[in-house]
Order: sequence, then C-alpha cells, then structure tokens
Amino acid sequence: MNNLTIVMYHYVRPIKGSRFPGIKGLELEGFRRQLDHLSEKFHIVSTERIIDAIKNGSKLPSNACWLTFDDGYKDHFKFVLPELLKRNLHGAFFPPRVAIVDDVVLDVNSIHHILNCATDVEELVLKLNAHCHSSGMAESETALFYKELAVANRFDNANTIYVKRMLQHALPEELRSSIVNKLFHEFVGISTASFSNELYMSIDEVQSLVKSGMYVGSHGSRHYWLDKISPDEQEKDIKESLIFIEKIGAATKDWVMCYPYGAYNNATLNLLQKYQASAAVTTEVRVANLTNDNPFELPRLDTNDFPQ
Ligand SMILES: [Zn+2]
Repeated sequence: MNNLTIVMYHYVRPIKGSRFPGIKGLELEGFRRQLDHLSEKFHIVSTERIIDAIKNGSKLPSNACWLTFDDGYKDHFKFVLPELLKRNLHGAFFPPRVAIVDDVVLDVNSIHHILNCATDVEELVLKLNAHCHSSGMAESETALFYKELAVANRFDNANTIYVKRMLQHALPEELRSSIVNKLFHEFVGISTASFSNELYMSIDEVQSLVKSGMYVGSHGSRHYWLDKISPDEQEKDIKESLIFIEKIGAATKDWVMCYPYGAYNNATLNLLQKYQASAAVTTEVRVANLTNDNPFELPRLDTNDFPQ
C-alpha cells in the first residue's frame, strides 16, 4: 500500500518545426495525451497530500501519481501550467535558483543544445578533446577519461555520454565552464544571456505558479551534483535555494528537494533534516512506496516510461 508513481518531466513544448527540432523533450501534443492517460489510470495527488502522508501517515489513494517538473523551463509556465489548470491537476516544479535569477544557462542545458546542434557527435568529441589539450591536458588523459566515461545508457550512446560526463563534472569546474561556453558559441551560435531568458521562467512566472496552487520546491541553487561537492558547499547551495524559495512565496518548512541529476550523499540527507525538508526525489527508476522508502530517497519514473 501507499504506492506512489512519481513522473519526471523536463522540456515540454511544441518541438517539431521549432528552432531546436532535435531537442530531446516531450511534444506538447504528447504531453496532452499523456495527461489524459494518467488522469484516467491514476489518481493525481497534490504535493501537500504527499507531505501529509509522509509526516502524519495518512493514506494515499490507490494508484497515486505525482507530477514533477525539473529545471524551471519557460515551457512549464507557457505550456504545462495551462494544461494542468484546464484539467484541475496539480504539479510540483523545481527551478534551480541561478537559472531564474541570473542570466546564465545551466551546464546541463548548454550541453543539450550543443549536442542538439552538433550534427556529428564524433566531431564534437574531437573538438572537446582539442579544447582540453590546448588548455594543457595530455592526450593520454583524455584517452583515460574516454575509457572510463564513454559508456552508453538507456538514453544515450557512448560518445554522447562522454561529452555529457566530461562537461557535467569530470573536468575541473573552471575549465569545464570555459569549454562549455566555447562549444556553445561554436555549435549554437547565440549568446548565453539571451538564451537564458528564452529558456527559463522569470521570477514573476515562478511566482504565478505558486499563486495558481502549484507546488514549487528546491532544485538547489546552482544545479550542482551535490555528491561531488563538500558538505559546506552543499549547505551553502541549499541555503541559497531556500532563500529563493521564500522569495517566490513558497514554503521553506516541510519543503521538497529535487536532487539535480538525482545526485546526493549522506551529508545531503543530514542537511535536509537540518533545514526541515519533508521529502526528496531522486532519479532512481521505479514506483515509490511511502511506507517503505526513505522519504528523502523517493524514486521516479520518466515521462518516456508512459504512453503519449
Ligand atoms: Zn535538473
């Protein structure tokens, strides 16, 4: 009992015929059909109800389902919110602070768009390695990285995973951002500042999610892999994200954390306790069970696991 199917969404927009037709996201039409399917098969519940089930042991309805939207994309305000309101459904949104407040593009999104604009991933791998070498890295080092990181998963081939892992966390932070910026200019060809405004919600838009009865929780401040930074850095990042959450009018007691990349460690779990979180969602792929699962380690399914 108390099973909870948590669905994870990222980009949701009309993709075909858009400026980035190769982006790996959910077509708006598919999203509409999926919402109809999910509301038929499941009982879509509010975040408040889930927090109550966790804190007070209240029972969820059978086939409970929770819709979660990561990364603060403008898609969520423009396309997702109207569809949810139309159907009287609830969603939980997790925008990282920097994407909303500063004119930056998260590495994860720069990387998506670099990959999307690169017609030949092998050429991208060569360019990436060339940037590493020109910053003083030996060819034997990139070869070692390639051997370790280039492992295909259920979504991506080996070269794509190599580019992602190198630019997400394998390279030192400064080198990584400088190479991401270079590749962004080379392959996407627009400024990151104007792209940021186009890609993410404004503060006002996030506030209107809250005013519309949607849940807004923390996705960290800088979208770090939390398990790869020190406990002190983690604490700073979580605190910053809570200041942002408070500013947009959402709850900072009994709040929900959505780990960027699903990454966390014991230090993260202690911090969530300290800052009075009630739940946290990961990227482990299975149906959650509120009776048995640690509420700070709730697994999620991907939108691609359901029919559209
Ligand atoms: Zn994210």
